[in-house]
Amino acid sequence: MKKTNTIFTLLLLLSTFLSLNAQLTSKEKLEQHVYTLAADSMFGRKAGTEYAVKSSEYIVNQWNGIGIKPYFESGFLQSFENNKYHNIVGIIPGNDSVLKKEYLIIGAHYDHIGERNGQIYNGADDNASGVATLIELGRALKNEQLQLKRSVILIAFDAEELGLLGSTHFIQNIDFPIENIKLMMSVDMVGWYKASGKLIYAGSGTIKNGKNIIENPSYIPNGLNVVTKSFEKSIFTATDTQPFAEKGIPTLAVTTGTESPYHKPEDDAHLIDYDGLVLINEHLKNILKVFSADTDVVASGKIAKKHRPMQLFSFAVTGQIGSNYHYYTEGALNGKSMTSSGVGLTTQMNFRSFAIRPEVFYERINAKFPGGNIYTDNVTIPLSIVLQSRNRSSGADLFFGGYYSYRFSGKQGENNLDFENTFKRNEFGLTYGFGVFLSPFKIGFTNRTALTSFTKFPNSDNAYIKNRAKYLSIAYIF
Ligand SMILES: [Zn+2]
Repeated sequence: MKKTNTIFTLLLLLSTFLSLNAQLTSKEKLEQHVYTLAADSMFGRKAGTEYAVKSSEYIVNQWNGIGIKPYFESGFLQSFENNKYHNIVGIIPGNDSVLKKEYLIIGAHYDHIGERNGQIYNGADDNASGVATLIELGRALKNEQLQLKRSVILIAFDAEELGLLGSTHFIQNIDFPIENIKLMMSVDMVGWYKASGKLIYAGSGTIKNGKNIIENPSYIPNGLNVVTKSFEKSIFTATDTQPFAEKGIPTLAVTTGTESPYHKPEDDAHLIDYDGLVLINEHLKNILKVFSADTDVVASGKIAKKHRPMQLFSFAVTGQIGSNYHYYTEGALNGKSMTSSGVGLTTQMNFRSFAIRPEVFYERINAKFPGGNIYTDNVTIPLSIVLQSRNRSSGADLFFGGYYSYRFSGKQGENNLDFENTFKRNEFGLTYGFGVFLSPFKIGFTNRTALTSFTKFPNSDNAYIKNRAKYLSIAYIF
């Protein structure tokens, strides 16, 4: 690989000195970008280091050479956290007097993870490949600018590897209405097409008609296999689309997958599939032109569950089955338990990891009783305080609260219970338990312990009778 490097360095020198850059093929330009950004001299482009700054200067120079307009009056850079990190933002204005105020955002993070244990992590696939694509896509779209109706914003994000800092900063500081962003794309790890055999667009379900446009054969260059996934899942979750998706903006995560030595020192420039990159650029350019001109490009209104902002109110239907017995306040004997069940509506008011949960249940409560089994039909209203995982797609919760229950009917054997003289209609008690959820389902365990007695007076042993129930619950969360 040393040979390739040497030839490359010569090529680079040549192109710099003779200004032959414009005469390089697009494949050679892509190679130049990846070899430059993923060179050992960039020491892994860790955000906040001088090498990240060096990388940003390279990107700015390229865009200046192409004629991309800086997004800001002050230039391309959007610096944040006391000038520590820098997004690089350019714009290719659209040509339609109305649609030019709407934006397509193409992003690729340029930072990587630097050095560890004396080894340089070059991050050629992650994400020099995406930045090279971003630069050349800028050139291609600039050349066909007259065909663009909406404006295209190009962003090389900083500090993605530190937790999507650059993309988060950008979306939190935009100077136009958020609904003017019609699409955001993150190009992250697109250098291993040959190995993966597919270019994946995750998130096509967020755009109305998105799948049809992306998979339209007339936009796909020969030799490229394009795959869409409705929403981002597992391997696509940690990229710059997230802060945009959380605002309800349609997003696409573009990648050839995780075939490359992900976050390993072996992620080097000579392993990148440059022929694949050329095809990927071609396809991105084609569909972006469609997205820029097609007035039907609108949000589908659907968004991956994990991106949904936490709802202030959430709802679920809950079924529960378990057992109930009569606890006697005096003496060692208790009544034997019997199967009891219920069905109800759970509502919840959410405040991040804390929630308030009012519920209403219809319950059939059974218990063994001297002289014959008893059942009562109840309306039970628990009110609980909940501690919960902040992740909305999977997690756990813990709750504690009180309940009120009203017995609207009941029988012992064939006889109606005497609520006038013997049995109480009202019951108060404590409820507590836990649940685990994998959206949209939840399974949990609930305890109910009555504080008030079932009967109006003690029995012959001077004991009061109180209900105690345990339930397994299953809920469907809307
Ligand atoms: Zn990445």
